[in-house]
Amino acid sequence: MGGKIDLKPTDDRSHPEYRRDPLTGQIVIIARQRAHRPMSRFPSDDEDLPSGDCPFCEGRETMTPPEVFAIRPEGGARDSVGWQVRVVPNKYPALMVGAGETPSWSEHSGHLGDLLQDDALPGVGHHEVVIECPDHASSYHRHGDAQAGAVFLAYRERLRCFARKEGIASAIVFKNSGRSAGASQPHAHSQIIAMPLVPPILEREWRGCDDYWRENGRHYFANLLDAERSHGERIVEATDDFVAWCPYASRFPYELCVCPREEQARYDEASDHQVEALGALMRRLMLAMDNALGSVAFNYFLHTASLDSPNVDGVPAGFRWHLEITPRLEGLAGFEIGSGMYINPVPPDMAARDWRRYMPAADGATS
Ligand SMILES: [Zn+2]
Ligand SMILES: [Zn+2]
Repeated sequence: MGGKIDLKPTDDRSHPEYRRDPLTGQIVIIARQRAHRPMSRFPSDDEDLPSGDCPFCEGRETMTPPEVFAIRPEGGARDSVGWQVRVVPNKYPALMVGAGETPSWSEHSGHLGDLLQDDALPGVGHHEVVIECPDHASSYHRHGDAQAGAVFLAYRERLRCFARKEGIASAIVFKNSGRSAGASQPHAHSQIIAMPLVPPILEREWRGCDDYWRENGRHYFANLLDAERSHGERIVEATDDFVAWCPYASRFPYELCVCPREEQARYDEASDHQVEALGALMRRLMLAMDNALGSVAFNYFLHTASLDSPNVDGVPAGFRWHLEITPRLEGLAGFEIGSGMYINPVPPDMAARDWRRYMPAADGATS
């Protein structure tokens, strides 16, 4: 890895290209000859949203496990109506809350029979649902900035809570919107999984930043934002607090990354002002995505530095927390699953141009 992040654009507008992410080494194929006609609209896969007996709707608080956090601007009792955002344990959790020591993998004996018997750890962790608004067929970006800010405040408060829990090494906040992005409930929600382990992608990012610092004496994210801003074409928005851009080695068409302008590794250390400003920016980005791509399925996820775990060697140098937004215009196919590489038909320079065109003004308007 050289001292300067090399994000050179290709001159040839038709030839496919392998690109490698400078931080994670993730390889993608930018296959512009396969490009969709830019900005074709895709039908939502959640076009009808019957509320039926949706457990996330206001008034059905008893249908979820008791809440662990909520924002009620007018006050009110736990698990009552009147909330803006509500966080509850997942009723069907991937992991279970456990007590006792932090599990860690043992050294392999090399005997395959042992591996198949013993290479397992108790599935302890926390799995929570952040219900993003009380009404069924809506989402925070259809409300105002205050609603969006409340969602990003809820993320921070839950991460602060997990940071105080012994044995939790990492947490991922993520959103699945639309069935093809993995959502099982149409009511707008996101999720948080907090674990005693560090997931491989996060570890690669943390270690990549540390390595970059050791080899070059420079902070990776600071250097990356400098490189992206001097290239310019992939920047979607730069506010006083954040930069949003389409990554050089985007895995998905219209993939986006949002990162704070100040050095900040942990999202749980974000200020009230940053949380509000992030909500306002994300609301506009979600509106732009609606305007540009229709109600497309998408994921986003938050990568943040360690939560004070004995498993983790302090905060990685030059790492900044960031949100990665991945519209899901196409499902993951055999090549992606089989190779760990991605084929992306929309070059990020082109994607950023489209994002900019559809970005609403920062004036509080809702569309
Ligand atoms: Zn609902
Ligand atoms: Zn990341």
